[in-house]
Amino acid sequence: MTESAVPAPAAPGDIPSLDRLLGSPDMQPALDAYGRTRVVATLRAHLDDLRAQARAGTLAAGEVTASAIAQASRRILDQASRPRLRTVYNLTGTILHTNLGRALLPDAAVESVMRALRAPANLEFDLDTGARGDRDDLVEDLLRELTGAEAATVVNNNAAAVLLMLNALADRREAIVSRGELVEIGGAFRIPDIMKRAGARLVEVGTTNRTHPLDYEQAITPRTAMLMKVHCSNYAVTGFTKSVAARDVAAIAHAHGLPLTVDLGSGTLLDLTQWGLPREETVRETIEAGADLVTFSGDKLLGGPQAGLLVGRADLIRKIKKNPLKRALRVGKLTLAALEPVLALYRSPEFLPERLTTLRLFTRPTARIQAAAERLCPVVQQAAGADYDVQAAPMSSQIGSGAMPTDQLPSYGLRIRHAGKGRPGRHLARLEQRLRELPRPVIGRQGDDALWLDLRCLEEHDEAEFTTQFQT
Ligand SMILES: *Cc1c(COP(=O)(O)O)cnc(C)c1O
Repeated sequence: MTESAVPAPAAPGDIPSLDRLLGSPDMQPALDAYGRTRVVATLRAHLDDLRAQARAGTLAAGEVTASAIAQASRRILDQASRPRLRTVYNLTGTILHTNLGRALLPDAAVESVMRALRAPANLEFDLDTGARGDRDDLVEDLLRELTGAEAATVVNNNAAAVLLMLNALADRREAIVSRGELVEIGGAFRIPDIMKRAGARLVEVGTTNRTHPLDYEQAITPRTAMLMKVHCSNYAVTGFTKSVAARDVAAIAHAHGLPLTVDLGSGTLLDLTQWGLPREETVRETIEAGADLVTFSGDKLLGGPQAGLLVGRADLIRKIKKNPLKRALRVGKLTLAALEPVLALYRSPEFLPERLTTLRLFTRPTARIQAAAERLCPVVQQAAGADYDVQAAPMSSQIGSGAMPTDQLPSYGLRIRHAGKGRPGRHLARLEQRLRELPRPVIGRQGDDALWLDLRCLEEHDEAEFTTQFQT
């Protein structure tokens, strides 16, 4: 009889016992890394698995040695211990990408958060008097200085700011909004829904494309609590359009003793045209135009942490701070630790394009991005393989998060096409998946039968790490 080329399968009795494995030197590294409790639980499950395979006659003899079992259980432990929140490369071309965490924070903010994580801080403690303090005090002076508003407060995000503002100022009363401004921002933020939850009744005026001053005038009744304007974040109304400027709506509101509130959405503190970016009304201009209260995000154009900022008249801010929802929506110390240094950067605008990460990315010169594309093209071509054609190519980035939706920033990156015949979609999807499986996943964007890797957000100091993971 000739010897079979296939080795005999392992029998259940060949599998070593849990105790023997735990005593074996092969298991020691896993025990050191994960501790006995987790190693025992993982080993148990793995041994059950092996026994089932042995009974089915599908377990190879090589899989029951102590070293093979140690290796397999280590792999299972490592895999299950990978953090779910991972850093990625945002090569989508959308700088403030909501799904990828929006604004990247400057070093000053990162260091401040680290200090606040490790040590107690005067979050609600007045160091001058030794009395209890108010956490808003940490940033209120800066916000007043930078916006010209009388007072300010901070909550978890801008959606919370709008909810709180409506509940505090328009509960069981009416808020008048133009139909052209009833926006839905991705992720189910709709002004009409927020109004309802806040207890305010929405009164729509005008039409989608045209609203006149008289529309506001005629809608005012004794039940009116406010006139409200909402920034058309993620769309533009173009063509035969008319909207009423904040200054004019403010005049109407004030003539009736009512406040004008403005949800600016992104909300910038400085005129971005000085850096060649599109024009966007600043928070200060909105206050100067007569808005009594303005809300905006911390992690959009501002370039800070997720937060909702409310600035405006002192009496209105006082009322808002007394509302119980403020307690429910307040920010934690990490947010304030990040927000204060970001706001402080705005006091020295000449340093902003270098030190404020988001502005540095918005204004990164195309020539520098192009040079990076030319350096990285061969690296990515090599990794992608001959089935793909990788080219350095011009493309357009966008700011994202609803800021300046129709404006594009000239950028550069890698355009990857499938080199063979047939429908490219499946091949590009497979390549996208490979990129997502890298230790630090690379996220691009598909369009026009190509995968686009916009290199605007891959700065020079990130290139070495980026390249290394393609070469290993
Ligand atoms: C983005 C945006 C919001 C929501 O802000 P978050 O900070 O994401 O909660 C609300 N209103 C407008 C106009 C926006 O653009």
